[in-house]
Amino acid sequence: MKMIRAIDIHKQFSGVEVLKGISLEVEKGEVVAIIGPSGSGKSTFLRCLNRLEQIDSGLLEIEGEQLAGPGPGGACQYADEGRARQICSKMGMVFQHFNLFPHLTVLQNLLEAPMTVKGMKREDILPLAEELLNKVGLLVKKDSYPSSLSGGQKQRVAIARALAMQPDIMLFDEPTSALDPELTGEVLKAMRQLAEEHMTMVVVTHEMGFAREVANRVIFMDQGEIVEEGLPEQIFRAPQQQRTREFLDKIL
Ligand code: ADP
Ligand code: MG
Repeated sequence: MKMIRAIDIHKQFSGVEVLKGISLEVEKGEVVAIIGPSGSGKSTFLRCLNRLEQIDSGLLEIEGEQLAGPGPGGACQYADEGRARQICSKMGMVFQHFNLFPHLTVLQNLLEAPMTVKGMKREDILPLAEELLNKVGLLVKKDSYPSSLSGGQKQRVAIARALAMQPDIMLFDEPTSALDPELTGEVLKAMRQLAEEHMTMVVVTHEMGFAREVANRVIFMDQGEIVEEGLPEQIFRAPQQQRTREFLDKIL
């Protein structure tokens, strides 16, 4: 089943087109890495997928349900608010800057959205929340506040928090780029584990090792376009496009 169908997505900010017709389809259990220079539209594309940004035109389908697409007059139309929310609740997102609630403990951070958004009872979400914290190695920190955690620990809490909503798809926007190098490993390990459990994942990353070893497919974006995509070994060993080669030469 196609978990994500994004077809010919266009998006501009004050007249400047930052997505110039991006198309991406993601199968269940697939891990897609998006790489590319700063400013190429990677974050904007990810944010469009879960409606943090609205597209100008194109089609967005999540698990077969239409989030946005051409309406009767041809203009782009979104699903109504309730439905759009429901569709987007299938996706969890992890940001570069953790975005944990600073006034809540680690455990409360995980319980918050399931209780307020999904209306779940604390005792019903608690076992999953503790299991997820255990999985990312932070159950011992459940009563700590985010300010007492390292960046790597915060990001692992952010991953567990997104998973507490039981999403079918996880979106990651450069989850390790705000971390000191010695802390990226623990976050990548949690992501790798998630991939091994066949979570459907779209990961914007500068971690080429992760893209090479964990992703099933690598997308190279530049200037609002997908320039090239393929299997990791194709992209890294034999990129077809000049722009891909130049980018990889610079960062590898
Ligand atoms: P990337 O994640 O690949 O670095 P972004 O998606 O963040 O790229 O940005 C793509 C382009 O869109 C950049 O030129 C950026 O300045 C612009 N942009 C992103 N968000 C906004 C916004 N909210 N308002 C105006 N311009 C934006
Ligand atoms: Mg970005």
